[in-house]
Amino acid sequence: MTAANGVWRNWARTETVKPVRVERPSSIGAVQRSVRAAARTGLRVKAVGAGHSFTGIAVATGVLLELDELSGIVAVDRERMRVTLLGGTRLFELPRLLKPHGLAMENMGDIDRQSISGAISTGTHGTGRDFGGISTQVVGLTLVTADGELLTIDENQNAELLPAAAVGLGALGIIVEVTLQCVPAFVLEAVERPLPLAEVIGDLDGHIGGADHFEFYWFPGTRTAVTKTNTRAAASVTRRPLTRRQVFVDDTFLANGVYRVTCAAGAVVPAIVPSVNALAERLWSNRSFSDHSHKVFTTKRTVRFREMEYAVPAADVPVVLTEIDELIESRGWRISFPIEVRNARADDLWLSTASGRASGYIAVHRYFRESHTEYFEAVEEIMARHAGRPHWGKLHTLDAAALGALYPRHADFVALRDRLDPARMFSNAYLDRVLGA
Ligand SMILES: Cc1cc2nc3c(=O)[nH]c(=O)nc-3n(C[C@H](O)[C@H](O)[C@H](O)COP(=O)(O)OP(=O)(O)OC[C@H]3O[C@@H](n4cnc5c(N)ncnc54)[C@H](O)[C@@H]3O)c2cc1C
Repeated sequence: MTAANGVWRNWARTETVKPVRVERPSSIGAVQRSVRAAARTGLRVKAVGAGHSFTGIAVATGVLLELDELSGIVAVDRERMRVTLLGGTRLFELPRLLKPHGLAMENMGDIDRQSISGAISTGTHGTGRDFGGISTQVVGLTLVTADGELLTIDENQNAELLPAAAVGLGALGIIVEVTLQCVPAFVLEAVERPLPLAEVIGDLDGHIGGADHFEFYWFPGTRTAVTKTNTRAAASVTRRPLTRRQVFVDDTFLANGVYRVTCAAGAVVPAIVPSVNALAERLWSNRSFSDHSHKVFTTKRTVRFREMEYAVPAADVPVVLTEIDELIESRGWRISFPIEVRNARADDLWLSTASGRASGYIAVHRYFRESHTEYFEAVEEIMARHAGRPHWGKLHTLDAAALGALYPRHADFVALRDRLDPARMFSNAYLDRVLGA
């Protein structure tokens, strides 16, 4: 969010900027006027969502558009279970908006603070053998392009652009509407359990294949995987939600409050990190419950951290994890944040990290008061050996040349950007790096 002094900071505190001006358009027409006015005065323009990207992808030096007032449902196609949302709608608003229609998002990531446009623009994803990232749920979009005109992309109009615009990096225009393919509301049955790390890595295909949504956390230095297995069930099954006390004690007090204190202590005294990790492992594991899908998919994250996440071919995940384990061991690093492992099916979106290949996601984190650089750089070298593709919203150092070699459609995306935004109205330093200036 932009503070009263006009300075914008992202959630991870890795980026700060004071835009020339901040605007809060509350209609699509107002967004068009903002873009035209920026063009007339030679300023760049950029919409931000929740500022939850760790990279500089959302940094707006010229005109920053906050779209919180451009929020809500525009239309519902109940027969096809499709919902059109205004571009600034936050994910946490969706359960309330979708409930009267008996619908839900097919899959979600770990949190729900993001705007729908911010989430899809960076390829935000959750986990699940048969499921893709949030962008794979997009069946239509409307953009305000560099000339202030509206460009509608769906199955009937400009359909060939949908696989590009569904993960658009904010480079093609301002998204003012998004149509999502939803599914009937459902319940998730969650089982969270610690298992021996070697067993999980040794039979990863079995774990992933045996569940609708499987993921695990591993605290470096421990030999345990904290697994999360979510099974989809009809909305009509009896739910066994976490009690308010459990939510408070497990998720708010222990997993976030106590954890924040112990991470802060570990930053000052690295020797205590192994005990912090052993504690964290105990706090986060061993419970089962069931609830509305969004309540199981997402959690609160109040301990601030830095993150890098790479997608690698699914088959490479065990060897990549083994290499990271050996790296941390050989350097003697004490890392107080877990490594998170997820997966997704292959999709056909040009800049999706799972484009053309079933993928495993491996995310490394560091507490925000500790330096992440050496750790992330060394892990990035491992990812490079496995044709890893970085999450667009999470820290990485790749440039357009490297990314061009990883994405068969990267050049096509750059050509589309040249066509839609020849004057680079929507660019910034990050986009210049990953797409070319
Ligand atoms: C605590 C935390 C947990 C996270 N969990 C996950 C996770 O589980 N899975 C995952 O994949 N990622 C995760 N992320 C990363 C996050 O989902 C992405 O970085 C996402 O892009 C953030 O959404 P946002 O609304 O904050 O967008 P911002 O960071 O504000 O913006 C991201 C991009 O979207 C563009 N954009 C925003 N709105 C518009 C618009 N209307 N039109 C055009 N472009 C627009 C911005 O210009 C920018 O390029 C997490 C991040 C944090 C901090």
